[in-house]
Amino acid sequence: MLLTIFKSQLVKKMENIVGAENVLSSREELCIYSSDSTNIINADELAQAVVFPQTAMQVSEIMKYAYKKSIPVVARSAGTSVCGACLPKKNGIILDFSKMNRIIEINKDNLICKAEPGVVIEDLKKEAEKYDLFYPPDPSNLKVSMLGGSIALSSGGPHTFKYGSTKDYIIDLEIVTADGKIMHTGCDCSKNVTGYNLTQLFVGSEGTLGIITQAAIRLIPKPEAKRVMLAYFNTLEDTSRTVNDIISNLITPSVIDLIDKNTIQTTESFYPSGMLTDKEAALLIEIDGFKSSLDEQYEKIIEICKNNNSDYIQTAQTPEEEERIWISRRSSFGATAKLAPNVVTEDVVVPRENIVPLVKGIREICSRYNLKTCIMGHIGDGNIHPNIALDLRNEAERINFEKAKEELFRLAISLKGTLSGEHGIGCEKSDFINEAINADCISLMKQIKKLLDPKNILNPKKIFPEVK
Ligand SMILES: Cc1cc2nc3c(=O)[nH]c(=O)nc-3n(C[C@H](O)[C@H](O)[C@H](O)COP(=O)(O)OP(=O)(O)OC[C@H]3O[C@@H](n4cnc5c(N)ncnc54)[C@H](O)[C@@H]3O)c2cc1C
Repeated sequence: MLLTIFKSQLVKKMENIVGAENVLSSREELCIYSSDSTNIINADELAQAVVFPQTAMQVSEIMKYAYKKSIPVVARSAGTSVCGACLPKKNGIILDFSKMNRIIEINKDNLICKAEPGVVIEDLKKEAEKYDLFYPPDPSNLKVSMLGGSIALSSGGPHTFKYGSTKDYIIDLEIVTADGKIMHTGCDCSKNVTGYNLTQLFVGSEGTLGIITQAAIRLIPKPEAKRVMLAYFNTLEDTSRTVNDIISNLITPSVIDLIDKNTIQTTESFYPSGMLTDKEAALLIEIDGFKSSLDEQYEKIIEICKNNNSDYIQTAQTPEEEERIWISRRSSFGATAKLAPNVVTEDVVVPRENIVPLVKGIREICSRYNLKTCIMGHIGDGNIHPNIALDLRNEAERINFEKAKEELFRLAISLKGTLSGEHGIGCEKSDFINEAINADCISLMKQIKKLLDPKNILNPKKIFPEVK
């Protein structure tokens, strides 16, 4: 009874702040917000209200109220996190940013864009292109994922090898703190060493330190031209050596991604694009820059691939062929979903020299636990995504997956790597963070969290199992 009164007070307060049309509170609606792209359904821990703010002032008022009443608040953009990062784990309020979706300005002289957290990444990229500018971060689900979530996870994507990830493009954030203050962490200058780098503290913090209500983003000139190719190999060793040889020949491809045999076969059966299905692996390579510089790089890459026993190389001859290769690459997660009711994608990262033992180890672990696995990822960054297809309703399969996941994380750590390169920790990997980071660093991180969020209301139970 008490809980019901409390809930209705909360909903009423939210409606006062943002208007009744911007608050959801029916059980059905709250259930929808109890999941993301992780296979975790959180029906026991539903939020009490989903709120759609439209200004930083509204977010500030919500946070002041939540702080006073010690109510948990989870920020959510598109809800596509694959680590349970935006799930409510202690009831409370979900702040859905999909209605704060304005691109405020693009300043071509300063190479800066200002935008709100609900802007879809693809829209941001297209808007930048109108000014001949380029925003490189490109998570594969860029058609739906949004700026706020991608900043809070420091999302990457295929172009990170040459251009870096989201963290390399954020120069200022408007943040609403746990107790409702609105502050800016940086300024409009792309260079800034005035004080601590608070901007980078909030990037990748998974909504656990503050709420992002606006970002200033560094843009770069759009490359004049690009060329996309797929080179096929019969062994992982040849594939990996090719990557090293390309780099040691002073070529930095804008993309250099690995697609393994299972991924090629699964993707081809889902979206036929003419990929060769009998090869051990393919490298998706894109080079970009001035038109005049591409031929020389292209010829050198072809020579290196051939020297490393690649006997078939497909080069896109038209923008349509390029697009077909990209659709195929971006479909790999969805294609894996054809194999079983659930797909879990992991995100381990190792120094590039350890890629071959990592990929072979993943295959060995998954085959021992009888799990169907398609492996792809950003080989240039040492960041590999095993997409594991399974039926989580089957208890034995679920237990096997949990054991395999544990071994996978330990394998990556033993190869001088870590748990996540770009997807984040959320609640899916939080039990393993103590193995990946030393105790002093964990303790420092928890102190920072406590300082910025003394009541532990910002996205609780994420990154660390529980902040005491
Ligand atoms: C098919 C598929 C492909 C993917 N491919 C990639 C990929 O190539 N590279 C990659 O890096 N990731 C990838 N992802 C993972 C993920 O979708 C991306 O990282 C994405 O950018 C998250 O954006 P989102 O808007 O969905 O965030 P959400 O899932 O809504 O939120 C993610 C995190 O950000 C926090 N957050 C959201 N908004 C705010 C805010 N305003 N203030 C503070 N915190 C906030 C949330 O609390 C949560 O912790 C993929 C996911 C899927 C399902």
